[in-house]
Amino acid sequence: MDFLEKKVEELKSAGIYRELPINDTPIDAIIELNHKKVINLCSNNYLGFANHPRLIEASKKALDDYGVGSGAVRTIVGNMRIHEELEDKIAKFKKEEAALVYQSGFLCNLGVIQAVTTDKDLIVSDELNHASIIDGVKLSKADKAVFKHSDMFDLERILKEKRDQYEQVLIITDGVFSMDGDLAKLPEIVRLAKKYNALTYVDDAHGSGVLGEQGRGTVDHFHLHGQVDFIIGTLSKAIGVVGGYVCGSKAMKAYLLHRSRPHLFSTSMQPSAAAAIIEAFTMLESSNEYTLKLWDNARYLKSGLQKMGFDIGHSETPITPIMIGDEVKTMAFSKRLLDNGVYVSGIIFPTVQKGKGRIRLMVSALHTKAILDEALNIIEKTAKEMQIL
Ligand SMILES: *Cc1c(COP(=O)(O)O)cnc(C)c1O
Repeated sequence: MDFLEKKVEELKSAGIYRELPINDTPIDAIIELNHKKVINLCSNNYLGFANHPRLIEASKKALDDYGVGSGAVRTIVGNMRIHEELEDKIAKFKKEEAALVYQSGFLCNLGVIQAVTTDKDLIVSDELNHASIIDGVKLSKADKAVFKHSDMFDLERILKEKRDQYEQVLIITDGVFSMDGDLAKLPEIVRLAKKYNALTYVDDAHGSGVLGEQGRGTVDHFHLHGQVDFIIGTLSKAIGVVGGYVCGSKAMKAYLLHRSRPHLFSTSMQPSAAAAIIEAFTMLESSNEYTLKLWDNARYLKSGLQKMGFDIGHSETPITPIMIGDEVKTMAFSKRLLDNGVYVSGIIFPTVQKGKGRIRLMVSALHTKAILDEALNIIEKTAKEMQIL
């Protein structure tokens, strides 16, 4: 294991090695990290559902009704009624024909992309797509092409040049790009897909529960229902639990249940998680108080940072980066912020390009204005200490 020890040493001497902080509390606006209270500005728990009493209650009831595990993969005996109920619920909420749930969003991309493409197809992928898409594409036998981030001229150039050489062409994009918070140019992607007879695949992990009417996602935000072939979402971010799903046609679901490997070779979602998720969607259906609070907090935090003079990139969503650049400085800034009582994630290569280091602030519906004010003060003070501002 010397070779790995050496690699760890390299990380340490590069100043980018980190010890994972340990959290002793449920995910809230303030958490206890390494036995110290800190303001939490880095979870994906957008709506505050991860520790919501209604989800906990639903989950407890399902523990009594179904036990802790599903017992097998979906295609053997791991297909419980609660999984079927969950999928009906998601399909209805997303206004799509059918939904199929996976054990995580990551697995969903791995399982779907591979299953729906063959060696006669081409995948065209945005260069900033999430790692799980990149890995999913790697598992596919299809040819691959990458277009410059949200560059519709580049996308059309590829489609024009290559469309005729393949049976199917699948255009894949994040709905919301998780490191910058910008939206895919979905109306234009859908238009190009129609023009060149291509399929569309949108991973809306950061859009679901955040954008669109009552959090229905990026497709809803752009009024594109029925025009995107594969809509991926996660149940671990705004929904607050765990899992992922794909929405689309009934035929898509039927086929994936036969050929998507996470359904054939990995045990299905625990029933108590499914129950909590159903409750989360019920809450979104009946009220937009959570999404409104999230957006209100996001605007408040962003305007505070802008007034202080930070470069917060070009986010169109609650995701709020503070651009730093240098990797070592980025990690030092996030570490100092944690020492001073604010936990944010420092994001560096390989998650983003070299030289594009940033800290990323994730606000939620749980934060109060007082907590945000305190966080803003600490961020400003720390940045001045470190000559970032
Ligand atoms: C977080 C994320 C995933 C992974 O979702 P999990 O449910 O956490 O596995 C997939 N795609 C995108 C775009 C994401 O941001």
